[in-house]
Amino acid sequence: MATTLQPRTLRPAPEPLGNFIRPGYNDHTVLAQALTEGRGSGSGLIINPVHSERQMPLVVEANTAGVETILDSKSLELSSPSGYVLRGISDLPWAAEGGMHSPLNLANAAGARSVRSLAEYAAEAQMSAVLAPTHFLNSPTSPWWDIDATLTRSLRGMLDELELTQAPIYYPVMVKASSLTNPAMMTRLMSQLQSVPVDAVWLRLHPFGTGNSGPLVLKRYLQLARQLHALGIPVVAEHSGSVGVALLAFGAVGGIESGVTFTDTVNLDGLLRQPRPDNKPFSPPPRVYLHQLGAFVEASVAREFFAKRGMKALHGCQDTNCCPRGWSDMVGNPRRHFLRQRAREVAELTAMPESLRPGHYMENFLRPASDRAMRSADQEPSLARVRKRLDSWRGTLGADLEEHSSFTISPPAAGRRIRVRPSA
Ligand SMILES: [Zn+2]
Repeated sequence: MATTLQPRTLRPAPEPLGNFIRPGYNDHTVLAQALTEGRGSGSGLIINPVHSERQMPLVVEANTAGVETILDSKSLELSSPSGYVLRGISDLPWAAEGGMHSPLNLANAAGARSVRSLAEYAAEAQMSAVLAPTHFLNSPTSPWWDIDATLTRSLRGMLDELELTQAPIYYPVMVKASSLTNPAMMTRLMSQLQSVPVDAVWLRLHPFGTGNSGPLVLKRYLQLARQLHALGIPVVAEHSGSVGVALLAFGAVGGIESGVTFTDTVNLDGLLRQPRPDNKPFSPPPRVYLHQLGAFVEASVAREFFAKRGMKALHGCQDTNCCPRGWSDMVGNPRRHFLRQRAREVAELTAMPESLRPGHYMENFLRPASDRAMRSADQEPSLARVRKRLDSWRGTLGADLEEHSSFTISPPAAGRRIRVRPSA
């Protein structure tokens, strides 16, 4: 046999940063296409069991493609007044006997039965990972802390029993951001997270996100995420959207999660209050992603905006692999453009050494974005808000870079089991 020159790997490829996508009711088609084409699907999909008819076909395809499939346990909806009445929630196989989930009806055997149903569903549907059934925590003495820990331990045990030993459990932390300024709350959170067999922390901090990331909020988020690095497991910013890309660049998180052109801000108010009589689910049409600004506009606004002088050149998609016909493809297929651009943003960071990521983000995205926003705000008034936001991020992140010569980095959310322990 002739000797052939084998390509040598000079250094191992970096583990990819997490880019999790939460498909909404109408997003399955574009994601099926993305999975077939092998790009733009993100590194993981959060599967909504309420939309199983539409989303289950994605699971097999995603598993084959090496894209994570993460079962959403819908625990927040199951345990909140406005969530419980949403269509399909109370019909989930793991909805407890006795109505809306509460510390009372999830204690003891009923909780174990509910978790068994959840694990069996994950196994049957061939999910690669599960979001732990955690609940909204409003104080360091909430009964949910202990119940969530018990449910999560028993979920691990049952997944192992069902031969899903390689399936990671991700632990959503759902709290008001302000409550973590209470040292007792923070201490409780850290000890909780040390004691549960989970492979990543998913932060659902209320309120936070692209539309709610003023200087104080963003600074606190960076501080909190860095405190969590002591746990040694990846931190993922849920519903974070474009500000999540900044958090990734700064190493605060190892993964981000958002919907397809939506769900880029955490706001739990709607779920936690009492249901309104007119509380109907509603799927709005996708928004258009202005990737140069990390911002969205509605399709009708985008059409008018691109008709204005200079805006096609300034904001049109120049990536012929993404939108061969430039801005008209952005508006014509906004979901695909968003998915591909978000994948590019995350891949660019992954490919770069950690120490260079913050500078790259500041110089190659944030500075040009805020210049572009300034030049565009008189053409589209809603961009004045975007400009303000970008300037605020520049201020906060620039100060953070000046303050730290080095900072801790979250491990990449790369879909592996991390806390592998023999079960007790
Ligand atoms: Zn594009």
